[in-house]
Amino acid sequence: MATENSCCEWNGCTQPATHQVRADYPDAKSNIWHLCRDHEKEIKKQITRSRRPAPTPPEQPAEHQCGNCGEPVSIDSPECPRCGSRDRVVQVGEQVTIREKLKVKGRKSGATGRPYFEAKAEDSFTRDLAAESEIVRHVNREDDTYMENIRLYDGTCITSTSCLSDH
Ligand SMILES: [Zn+2]
Ligand SMILES: [Zn+2]
Repeated sequence: MATENSCCEWNGCTQPATHQVRADYPDAKSNIWHLCRDHEKEIKKQITRSRRPAPTPPEQPAEHQCGNCGEPVSIDSPECPRCGSRDRVVQVGEQVTIREKLKVKGRKSGATGRPYFEAKAEDSFTRDLAAESEIVRHVNREDDTYMENIRLYDGTCITSTSCLSDH
């Protein structure tokens, strides 16, 4: 939503503020900025970097088992305490990442051409936080609005709104 000819709130910037960015934190007061297109990108980075990175999951110790009888064997002992075998099987915890993608299109009945409404959701890995973030993008051609909603792993929500034409 373009704010009526106001200026970008970024220090020293004289560009028109075409984007409204709102940050909702799980542990702090919400904040709203009116920014130009470039600084909209910049503030999103800053908000993201201001959050604590995701705690690294405790490293799962690889589990050693006897290759003969399946008895758990400590890494240090050369042979299986049960059967004396020196064969080993190592099992490492498996990690599966699922990237969900959702796509919604709105078209009025009978209408042809581009849908007036589109929404796309995806997960993306945020390197600064070492965690997945969920991004939902809404395009509304009827209202001429573009909205991007980013949800960080810790519950922080960044919502950026602008006119489609300014996006
Ligand atoms: Zn600016
Ligand atoms: Zn054994």
